[in-house]
Amino acid sequence: MVEVWFGDWSRSLPGALGWVAMADKERSFRAPRGTFDVLPPQSWARAAIARLAMDTFALSGYAPIETPIFEHTEVFERGVGPGSDVVTKQMYTFIDRAGRSLTLRPELTAGVVRAVLEHGLDRGPLPIKLACIGPQFRQERPQKGRYRQFTQIDIEALGSEEPMVDAEVVEVGMRFFRKAGLSVRLMINSVGHFDESCRLGYNKVLGEFLRANESALAPDDRARIETNPLRTFDSKEQRTVAVMQGAPLISDHICDDCRTHFSAVLDLLKSVDVSFELEPRLVRGLDYYTRTTFEFIAGGLGSQNAVGGGGRYDGLAESLGGGPLTGIGFALGVDRILLALGEKAAASPVTVYFVALGEAARLEAFKRVASLREAGIGADLDLGARGMKGQMKDADRSGARWAAILGESEMAAGEVMLKDLVAGEQERIRMDDLAGRLAR
Ligand code: AMP
Repeated sequence: MVEVWFGDWSRSLPGALGWVAMADKERSFRAPRGTFDVLPPQSWARAAIARLAMDTFALSGYAPIETPIFEHTEVFERGVGPGSDVVTKQMYTFIDRAGRSLTLRPELTAGVVRAVLEHGLDRGPLPIKLACIGPQFRQERPQKGRYRQFTQIDIEALGSEEPMVDAEVVEVGMRFFRKAGLSVRLMINSVGHFDESCRLGYNKVLGEFLRANESALAPDDRARIETNPLRTFDSKEQRTVAVMQGAPLISDHICDDCRTHFSAVLDLLKSVDVSFELEPRLVRGLDYYTRTTFEFIAGGLGSQNAVGGGGRYDGLAESLGGGPLTGIGFALGVDRILLALGEKAAASPVTVYFVALGEAARLEAFKRVASLREAGIGADLDLGARGMKGQMKDADRSGARWAAILGESEMAAGEVMLKDLVAGEQERIRMDDLAGRLAR
């Protein structure tokens, strides 16, 4: 018997909360738990989001980069950090036939920084601005908005400590959400840098507080006191959350340099009308973060409401064996963005679907479709020589707003019947006016 998912909660995205027991013989016909297939029509929205993101980032000078889906395990162990849940509990690690330990990437940043160092991009003009998109893999407990294979879109800016880079990265993220039609709240914090006068000093203060309150913490969180005290702020356990309300805050303990940096970032955000909420308990899940950290939060998603997050990682390149190379970036969760958009997510880009009756009309439709596509208008037609009813059904299914109906009388008059598939109204227009009409 195996666990099998069934999608029961959303038409717009796959996923499932329940599982049912099924016979072994059916196992091979299901995607693994926590994964899903992306099928039309939902696949249109996903492709549109990916395009919009990469276009938005390109307009801000972020060049596309692709890195392998798997890396040497050490890249993540050293990059993401041995104290993170991602590394200790969630990685898909395997030994290949030559005995090497490899890991399916759980996130994009460590691999991108590895690539930058390997190819010496840091010896060229700085900052290096990069954007990428692709699947990530984490063995988490699946639920709505949390999958074992999920897609992230990511930008990284490496090689500048200037607050303006932080502000640019955050602003570009907010611009993407605005263009996508998704309203998000920006939560922002500074977690300082790895130094006794800053984060390391704060860790001691926090450690003392946690030890004094150890018995009130959830058992899993007690273990973090010595290894990674900051992560206690991330705990979802009610007992721990209650204790952390009284914890000393990092914002009261960061050093003067980090404080000045952070306030410059906030001023720059204000100068481009990006509103934010200071969240002194925001620490994020990966170990590498320093200074500015932030999260994009969407409404209506329940507990998995972060649609993206990021921050500075000024020590990451050195953890990977490189020289000093500062950086900042974010990763957005495509699956959660689509869930949050719901019905607002983009549909099929086909604007008009031709319904043609008779051979002459079919040939005319074939030519018209080609010229509309040439003009940048999404157009499609029946390729199966179906009857009127079947073609109208296909027109509906195509997601097109309009059906262009070509019968004998329309052909004779050089006209086309244009039917609004949403409003139900129709009118006859000259065939040569069709492109102009649809462009409107
Ligand atoms: P992280 O890499 O953990 O900082 O996550 C960045 C964003 O990726 C989050 O805000 C989520 O939107 C998305 N994300 C992270 N983990 C998952 C997951 N298991 N399933 C779906 N989306 C995820």
